[in-house]
Amino acid sequence: EKFMAFGDAIDLSHHLSTLSRNRVASPLKELQKYWGRPGIISLAGGLPSPEYFPFDAVKADGLVPNAFPATTPPRVKGTFSWLWSIFSASKVATTPIVIPKYPEHPSDINLAMYLQYSTAEGQPHLLKVVTELTTKVYKPAYANFKTMLHAGNTDGWLKAVNTLCNDGEGVLTDEWTYPSAIASMKPYGVNPVPVAMDGQGMSSIALREVLSSWDEKARGMPRPHVMYIVPVGQNPTGATMLSARKREIYDICVEYDIIIVEDDPYYFLQEGLYVSPSRRTSYGTGKELGDEEYINSLAPSFLRFDHQGRVIRLDTFSKTIAPGCRLGWYTCNPLFAERLLRQAETSTQAPCGFGQSIVASLLIDWQYSGYLRWLKGLGSQYKLRRDFFIDCLASKFHLEFESPVCNQFTGSETYVAYSKLSHHGEKFVKKPLFSFMPPSSGMFVWLHFDFEGYPKVEELGLETLERKLWIAMAEGGLLIGAGSIFSANPSYKADGTMGHFRISFSNAEFDALEKAVDIMAQVLDKFYQDL
Ligand code: PMP
Ligand code: PLP
Repeated sequence: EKFMAFGDAIDLSHHLSTLSRNRVASPLKELQKYWGRPGIISLAGGLPSPEYFPFDAVKADGLVPNAFPATTPPRVKGTFSWLWSIFSASKVATTPIVIPKYPEHPSDINLAMYLQYSTAEGQPHLLKVVTELTTKVYKPAYANFKTMLHAGNTDGWLKAVNTLCNDGEGVLTDEWTYPSAIASMKPYGVNPVPVAMDGQGMSSIALREVLSSWDEKARGMPRPHVMYIVPVGQNPTGATMLSARKREIYDICVEYDIIIVEDDPYYFLQEGLYVSPSRRTSYGTGKELGDEEYINSLAPSFLRFDHQGRVIRLDTFSKTIAPGCRLGWYTCNPLFAERLLRQAETSTQAPCGFGQSIVASLLIDWQYSGYLRWLKGLGSQYKLRRDFFIDCLASKFHLEFESPVCNQFTGSETYVAYSKLSHHGEKFVKKPLFSFMPPSSGMFVWLHFDFEGYPKVEELGLETLERKLWIAMAEGGLLIGAGSIFSANPSYKADGTMGHFRISFSNAEFDALEKAVDIMAQVLDKFYQDL
């Protein structure tokens, strides 16, 4: 594979929207070829003089790449909130960053350049860093891929919608998906076409079924030519799509000529399988993986299979550095990159120069290997959080596997949670409260409720049980995501026999996570008693 020479992207220009085709290059573009020519006096642009930027330098204290342990410790018994103290970042180890207005060497990152107007694709230092990362980690399977900055995946996706989709078209999505992505496209008359999922996210069988049986009249729209997919740490289900499934989906997209937009914020938060405390004999190896070993341990990006250039990959620093940076990047074919660039020129332009300069300086200071080291630490932190939260569920509820057969694709198991609380006097009838598949990546646990067979379900109102439970949780002091907001099915209603909730373990302190599970147990107990 190493010595295989990749070809260029195929011509996919027929996928461009009318809006995108109508974009003309900025009339100022002609100027650009002379820009930067040594000795030229440029009086053409409307540039403010850097003398008037009211900053002489920007200084920051970055953390060091090894601020968090690279891996989880070898042995952990029971719950482990005590570990948190050991595992929290050292507040002391920092690396100083100084960005002067005027550089000592012309190639240094400097404010005169980063706070000035620039080309919308982003500043060269940061582009170089993300291109190196894309090349070494995602390994696109064609030669002439391009990278270009955007202002985070929200911005990246909206621009992709505008570039690819016309009013009245549909976009293939997971049946449960990120609500903002749908909110971005709907006002343009672009509607989601949900595809059924399993423990690995989108089902390739269901995808083929949707495409092969497409009836334009019945559906009221042409067969979709764009897919929106969150393949790792799927939002809201936490599923991870592995190599074989991605290849199947990619091949179907070749067959049906579909552009895949891969929105992948949680790529480096791959936590692997959850092992319940009762079966946890050891916990991680405690050994840091080498860089190549680490990359190989991660589910590959769709780019890895993209020999035609039909994937637009969206990367973001939101979950690996900080969401307030509003910084991310595209990897896609040169034709799409050029159209996306034209769009950026008339909207965001380049992402904010402060963010670009500070993030670029940090990543250059850390170097490629240092950034990977940071990501290894981050992945371990989220694995600890995931495990801690599910351990809490295991201690407050009685958990059983739904069936002795593991999920055939991921090895994940579906757990069914029963109440542990005893009911005064009454004979306790064991009934399931909810079920879930521990997430293998990302920030979310997705709980599935089945209210079927409870005597008062009809009486309480078929449409509102999920909402009633959501309100009961909130009144009880716990705010979680009600499942219906994640449905890509326009006619979906939490229909009374089913309900879902998305719970995020990414942000709260460990004791708050523990308390949240206490509240859940109490609220659920009462809720089911009233059913
Ligand atoms: N509108 C006008 C009339 C301008 O002259 C300029 C900058 N030359 C802009 C908009 C662009 O503004 P901004 O940098 O805030 O996007
Ligand atoms: N896409 C998905 C699937 C997300 O879960 C999120 C964040 O919640 C985003 C995009 C937003 O990313 P960004 O901050 O890069 O706009």
